[in-house]
Formats: sequence, C-alpha cells, structure tokens
Amino acid sequence: MGSIEMETMLSIRTDWSREEIAELFDLPFTELLFRAATIHRENHPPEQIQLCTLLSIKTGGCPEDCGYCSQSVKAHSGVEATKLMDVQAVLQRAAQAKDAGSQRFCMGAAWRNPKDRDMPAIVEIVKGVSDMGLETCMTLGMLEPHQAEMLAEAGLDYYNHNIDSSPEYYERVISTRDFQCRLDTLGHVRSAGINVCSGGIVGMGETRDDRVGFIHTLATLPEHPESVPVNALVPVKGTVLGDMLADTPMAKIDDIEFVRTVAAARITMPMSMVRLSAGRESMSEATQALCFLAGANSIFTGDKLLTAPNAGDDSDGALLAKLGMTALQGDEPARACKVSEPAE
Ligand code: SF4
Repeated sequence: MGSIEMETMLSIRTDWSREEIAELFDLPFTELLFRAATIHRENHPPEQIQLCTLLSIKTGGCPEDCGYCSQSVKAHSGVEATKLMDVQAVLQRAAQAKDAGSQRFCMGAAWRNPKDRDMPAIVEIVKGVSDMGLETCMTLGMLEPHQAEMLAEAGLDYYNHNIDSSPEYYERVISTRDFQCRLDTLGHVRSAGINVCSGGIVGMGETRDDRVGFIHTLATLPEHPESVPVNALVPVKGTVLGDMLADTPMAKIDDIEFVRTVAAARITMPMSMVRLSAGRESMSEATQALCFLAGANSIFTGDKLLTAPNAGDDSDGALLAKLGMTALQGDEPARACKVSEPAE
C-alpha cells in the first residue's frame, strides 16, 4: 500500500462529535464547498459519476407506516400492490440497465422484511444480475442474520437500508419500528460481509440539528457505509408527509441547505460513494452541479425511482456532457475502493 493510500486511510474518522458536524454545517458556504471538494478529489476521480439503476421488484402493500412512502398500506397514494416480479423479468430489466451504461443495479421490494419463502427467488435474482457483470444492491427491509448470510453467499454486493433521519426525528416519521431496528439490520449486513448502503431523506420537516444527527449517525458507525444516498423528499399526495408539507414553506428543502448536507456527508465519510437520489428531478442543473462539487459522485438514472419520478437518462446524459463529466465505468473503480473495498 502506498503512502498516499495509507494517509487517506488514517484520515477516516468514526469518532465525529455532533458539535463538529454542526460546525461544518455552519461554515460559510464557499469554505464548506472548498473543503468538501478538496476531500472529494483526494479520494475519488472528481469528474466521474457512478450511474445506478433502481428497479422496484415488488411494489406497494407494505405494512410499515413510513410517512414519506407511497408504498405503505397507510398511504392513499393510488400505488397498487404487486407480487414479487418474475426472476426472468428482473434479469431482462438488468440487461437493459447495463446496456444503458449502469454500473450498479439496485432492486427494491416493499416489505417490512423478506419472508424465508421469498429468499430462493431473491437469491436467483442476485446470482443472475451478478453474472451479467453488474454490481448488485438490494433493499428488502429488515433482515435476520441468516438472511443476510444467504444474500452474501449469493454474491450480493450491497444492501441498502436507510436510517432516514436523526434518531430523534425518526420516531416522528415512522412508528412501526424503531431506529435501533435499522442499526441492527445494518449490523447483520456488515457481519455477513456485504457492503452497506445507508442514507436518508432531507426536507421532511426536520431541523438542521436533525440533519446533523443524521450525518452523525452514519459517520460514527463502526465502519462508514460504502454508499450514502442523500434524498430530498418528494412529497407524494396521499402520504402523511406529502399531505402535511404540501403548500407549506417546508415542502421543498432549500437548495443550499441540501448542498450543505451533501458536503457534510463527503467531509465526514471521505471514501463513501455519496449518491444524489430522490428529489433530483426537481433540482436545477446548477444545484446538481453544486452537489457534484460538494462531493456527490453517484446518481440514479432512468425515469423512475421505485414509484417516484426521476430525472431520466436523456437529461442525465445532457447534464453530464454539459459539465464535462463522465460515467464511472464498472471496471474502473473509484480510488476509494482501491483502499477499502476492492470489490467496488
Ligand atoms: S419505505 Fe420501505 S418499509 Fe417504509 S413503507 Fe415504504 S416500502 Fe415499506
């Protein structure tokens, strides 16, 4: 290992205090961006963006009551519940995503947790997508340790399980499980040797202190998540938060505050892939460019994110071309991964 790589590893901290993270958020915007951009280019190729595709493999009918989610049975969003997609249909969509340039194929099922009877099909899907040379990511809800082991054996690269917000704000958004349940599943995933993808949503009516607490929780996990999705709430009519926030000044997170959150994620978790996720379709190109400058280096492509609209391949391609940025290639890993995770 070279001295630069060793130095980078030594700079990774998991002992951030909430005060330190609050101080980052409070920095003058130009100073915050400069620090984030500097750390970003020390650890990642700054002109490259990872392209990921997300597919809902089982939509709606979820018994959980996440206040932002149109797939909850508690929401009146008109999303119809479906069964788990046929394995071959999923593989066909994965092949299309690969042809469109995606490096990672993320699959989501609207479950509280997978049942053991679902696992054989899930395992078959993971193996099939992996065989195409795509990185695989699944989000299936809470996992038992043995289910995490099955996914690891199938070759799953990443498991997504978002912490959503600060520990304090979490209970105001979801009542059917608690924050510790999230951390427990993340622990099972990590113990099974699967890379962790975990982030959250801003713009749910939380305070800046909650955003600090959200970043603090991720940045003080025993190991930082390899992927950190930062979503801006897409207020969907019929969901608790969508109805509560519609037509209020809080309905959309302030763009500068969103960029500050991305920058805080980049500074505190220098090696992670920071992903611009939901909410990007309503962001201006300038705001997205600021996010890339602040250290975001991964996006979801395609027209849909599970059930919410997304920016779409055409506008993504045009934006990247306008910014002179390119897609991170599957066989060209980010510098981060040469140090911590050879798999990515
Ligand atoms: S976010 Fe996930 S767990 Fe929560 S209601 Fe939606 S599908 Fe269910």
